[in-house]
Amino acid sequence: APGTPILTAPLPQERGGNNSFTHEALTLKYKLDNQFELVFVVGFQKILTLTYVDKLIDDVHKEFRDKYRNEFQQKGALGLLNGTFDFKDDFMRLLRDAEESSKVRAPTVMKTFEQSLKSQKTVKCMIETRGEKPKEKVKNKKNKGSKKDGTEAVAVPSKASAADKQLSAAGDKEELTKDEILQKNREEFFRRHMKAGEKSRSPKPDAQKEKGKKPRVWDLGNSNAKVLDYSNSATNGSADTCPVEEFDPDMALGDKNREPGRLYDLEYESDDEAEEEKVVQNPSKPSVKKGGLGGMFGMLKGLVGSKSLTRDDMDPVLEKMKDHLIAKNVAAEIAVQLCESVAKKLEGKVMGTFTTVTSTVKQALQEALVQILQPQRRVDVLRDVMDAQRHRRPYVVTFCGVNGVGKSTNLAKISFWLIENGFSVLIAACDTFRAGAVEQLRTHTRRLNALHPPESHGGRTMVQLYEKGYGKDAAGIAMEAISYARNQGFDVVLVDTAGRMQDNAPLMTALAKLIAVNAPDLVLFVGEALVGNEAVDQLVKFNKALADHSMAQTPRLIDGIVLTKFDTIDDKVGAAISMTYITSKPIVFVGTGQTYCDLRSLNAKAVVAALMKA
Ligand code: GDP
Repeated sequence: APGTPILTAPLPQERGGNNSFTHEALTLKYKLDNQFELVFVVGFQKILTLTYVDKLIDDVHKEFRDKYRNEFQQKGALGLLNGTFDFKDDFMRLLRDAEESSKVRAPTVMKTFEQSLKSQKTVKCMIETRGEKPKEKVKNKKNKGSKKDGTEAVAVPSKASAADKQLSAAGDKEELTKDEILQKNREEFFRRHMKAGEKSRSPKPDAQKEKGKKPRVWDLGNSNAKVLDYSNSATNGSADTCPVEEFDPDMALGDKNREPGRLYDLEYESDDEAEEEKVVQNPSKPSVKKGGLGGMFGMLKGLVGSKSLTRDDMDPVLEKMKDHLIAKNVAAEIAVQLCESVAKKLEGKVMGTFTTVTSTVKQALQEALVQILQPQRRVDVLRDVMDAQRHRRPYVVTFCGVNGVGKSTNLAKISFWLIENGFSVLIAACDTFRAGAVEQLRTHTRRLNALHPPESHGGRTMVQLYEKGYGKDAAGIAMEAISYARNQGFDVVLVDTAGRMQDNAPLMTALAKLIAVNAPDLVLFVGEALVGNEAVDQLVKFNKALADHSMAQTPRLIDGIVLTKFDTIDDKVGAAISMTYITSKPIVFVGTGQTYCDLRSLNAKAVVAALMKA
């Protein structure tokens, strides 16, 4: 019946993180359970504003998972495909509850546009006076106030974040769109970074503190302005779709006080809690208070004296660790493999007298994670570019990945970073497929040129676009671009390629050809940090396609990863692990937002701290 949500079959997951899909008059909202590989979908008429859908989906998810947990664990989700689930009554009950709960909410007085959160999501909010103190509860404005003053920047977001919590506790959660959730995560991300920044600098005098803080770039990075989002701005063939007048260099740049050309490390809140917990936490009593009696007993309970570790000792802890990793968005099969390797490593090991099983397992896992994130071969782009320069040839980087992950945007950020390091860049527009792709790059090129005009570089054009429009052979364009760059003395060629799904054989073949023919110095896979299990599939298939279609004896695979949208995931940083685990290749760049400065290098310890955090 219209308006009655229905549970339906799994939906193909094109990209992780999406939870709503609209088709004509219907909206589908869905939720993924990475652990058991389940998809919960509610379909309803778009015009109905069902405020209880998120609650319903959450409740059904929890109840269904808990009811069938044992079966899933024994047979796996696929093993139950032919099974019948006696869930109808439960579902009807949950539906009734959800409907009731939406009725008993505070009298539904419709918000005016000004009162609504949407009203703060306008372009205006991006250009709000930067020194202005953000108003409480104005969540989409919260970060604007942070640019001028580092101290303010620390206090403000957390305040706003508390306001967020209040808002969602009051039941506004149902109104959060995907964008708003991402935005919330971004705010949380920057709050952490700022907190981390403040912590490490707190003993310094004020002036120093501010000086030290500024180059961290977070302040403008936290803007919710879609400064670099030109993905829709350019449509078919028009070069002028983004007039220069609209361009605010400050905004596109991020913090002006940062050290130009420096690639800052990703930082995270130091994980004091997790550190303490490591000593006292006991698997059977996870909520024991540190230092209290409970903590003491918890600790004693977990002690195994100088006995050697058995599988039985570790299994409950490993199970918890696995769930924890999955909850942090590590792909399920990788979480399993990781725990298995930790178990193998520890089995039979004699533990110290005052160590708990939990802390021993945790530490081993932590070490394994750091190791995974620090693959043996590092990629030092600047050094390699200089090396290429010495050989009088351009250094060539190819960007590949599925659609919408941020290839073009992060390619532009990397261009900016290279230019700031004194290298000239030729951008090769080899996405000859998606309407607007060339224009998007043209817009970036113009903005980058505006930020780094030839006048500031001894008359040298620092960035140029090489394009041949649409429909042409991408490999051919890349080849022409490389030879153009060689003739014109460009230091680097950045090759943008069409986004493609890993299952699209013809496009994957074309990518393999582009790489085989042009032999770039670096093949970067661009993947968004939002992906869970999907990360495995994407990377395995990209690498396989490159291997299958390579003409070389040793096939050319992905050399490194650009992990994008890291600012939108809060502490669910598992994709970083999944991606490096599968490829054994480093994360070379991390995209942390939508300004040209929102680019970082990976800090393995920071990621692991976020992963281990309770
Ligand atoms: P492509 O199709 O892979 O080239 O993706 P685009 O570069 O067009 O980016 C898709 C969307 O993701 C745009 O809205 C970008 O602004 C956004 N985006 C890219 N990188 C990041 C990032 O690191 N953080 C955030 N928050 N958004 C990003």
